[in-house]
Amino acid sequence: MGKKDKTTKTNSKNAPTSKQIPNRDNFARLNYLYQLSNHFTVGSSCSSSCSSSNQSLARGYDRNLDLLSKRTLSKLSPSVKRSICKKCHVLLIPGMTMSIRLENLSKSQDPKNDVFVNKCLNCGECKRFPIGADREYIPFYERGYIDEPKSGESFDERNNI
Ligand SMILES: [Zn+2]
Repeated sequence: MGKKDKTTKTNSKNAPTSKQIPNRDNFARLNYLYQLSNHFTVGSSCSSSCSSSNQSLARGYDRNLDLLSKRTLSKLSPSVKRSICKKCHVLLIPGMTMSIRLENLSKSQDPKNDVFVNKCLNCGECKRFPIGADREYIPFYERGYIDEPKSGESFDERNNI
């Protein structure tokens, strides 16, 4: 009976859900600030009376989020980091606080030169992502969900195939 109990305990420790996250409270604070910013940004579009104060409140939360992640050396997910304007700290939501367009400034109009442009509607800051060169490109943070790397295979070998 005692042995069976020990084996079940070791199995539960190996499960990925019970993985320890270092500095968990920092990530909880970052998550809370991001949710608050999202709430006030989306909520500010509904009512026009207090929209400007809500917008500035949301920007304040985003600024705190940025400062906290830098001060505690907690790395934000690239998807979260790209959804915040680096210049004015507005939460970038497509169609609401950000415009998206596909740009091709080359003379030949080759689809390889396509650039994905995200423009912040508050300050006009643009982020450009060249997407034409490799249409099958998957961002680094999404690769883990799609295919798990084999144990003997290095990162470069997978990309060359
Ligand atoms: Zn901006």
